Amino acid sequence: MSTERIEAVPMLDLKRQFSVIGARMNESLLRVNESGQFILGPEVKKLEENVAKYSRTNFAVGCASGSDALLLSLMALNVGKGDEVIVPSFTFFATASCVPRVGATPIFADIDPVSFNLDPQKVAEKITEKTKAIIVVHLFGQAADMTEFQALVNDVEAKTGRKIYVIEDSCQAIGAELDGVSVGNWGDASCLSFYPTKNLGGAGDGGMVVCNDQTVADRVRLLRGHGMAPRYYHKEIGINSRLDSYQAAILNVKLPYLDQWTEMRGQNAARYEKLFAEAGLSDVVVTPKTTENRRHVWNQYVIRVLGGKRDELRAYLAEFKIGTDIYYPLGLHQQECFAYLGYKPEDLPETLKAANEVLALPIYPELTAEEQIFLVEKVKTFFEQ
Ligand SMILES: *Cc1c(COP(=O)(O)O)cnc(C)c1O
Repeated sequence: MSTERIEAVPMLDLKRQFSVIGARMNESLLRVNESGQFILGPEVKKLEENVAKYSRTNFAVGCASGSDALLLSLMALNVGKGDEVIVPSFTFFATASCVPRVGATPIFADIDPVSFNLDPQKVAEKITEKTKAIIVVHLFGQAADMTEFQALVNDVEAKTGRKIYVIEDSCQAIGAELDGVSVGNWGDASCLSFYPTKNLGGAGDGGMVVCNDQTVADRVRLLRGHGMAPRYYHKEIGINSRLDSYQAAILNVKLPYLDQWTEMRGQNAARYEKLFAEAGLSDVVVTPKTTENRRHVWNQYVIRVLGGKRDELRAYLAEFKIGTDIYYPLGLHQQECFAYLGYKPEDLPETLKAANEVLALPIYPELTAEEQIFLVEKVKTFFEQ
């Protein structure tokens, strides 16, 4: 296969997806314009039904973003002042920022170095009498060790009678499975994001809470619309976090393609694995690993670059217009806004190490084999120079 004609490999190129389904996306927006209904409405109701069916959950409630889905979940589960919520530090900011927003305290726990997901043992060590919830992230599209987290909270309940909620941050993991069970069915509530770079991305912001408990679903539905029921009568103080009809219309067009796109992401991941193995780079590049009992949906393909060379490699690839990204360059326990919590960087050694080594490579469905070959060739020349 020739890579001579490749001039650039973007980190993400949504135009390639648009060239296939763009006409249908445009038509769906025209239908919304003609309907005159721009907030919630039939498109959002249809999307809620479609996503619940896709996730095999009983309920789905649309909202304005994945960040709001997390906030609404905590509100719906009555997490508040005096409560502690255990969260990873190696994740996107929104996983933790929702916690102080409801007046509770984020407690950061370290990750498993292989999966980058929360380490159940590290979470167990952080449980106190004040622990009200654990937010488990399915990072990069791979389900976390949910069986262990369930055992952990069941154990606490059996011994003390205290219930600890499990909230799934599934923002990067729609369609991911563990033991044949989809994300969304493991926790008390599960949060999805439709940010454009996610596997199911809108044309703007959007999010959803999926769950199996009617009480939680009803509560999220009430809270997303200012706690209002009926109109102009407010049962409680909610927020304005409605999903708009444009986003739902676009997402209703895209959802039927999601499994096909996930399949293509998986093929790209398998191809990287093969190319890196053939390049003989295993002493400097660690490729991501998954397990037999998981369906990884590959929102990100994240390698570790050893020997302190990550940033140099990234700059080298950029010379060839090869896009990469760093998820995440700094643990949340080291962020300025969380300094009041008093963590030292080395309190979470695996998070600290990951933040210095990770590099995300392009993995979107339309990425070509030639582009992947070109990229891995350049990684190889970087380490040989
Ligand atoms: C994207 C993302 C969010 C937030 O979603 P938004 O829709 O951008 O608000 C939360 N958690 C994780 C892990 C994410 O990747």
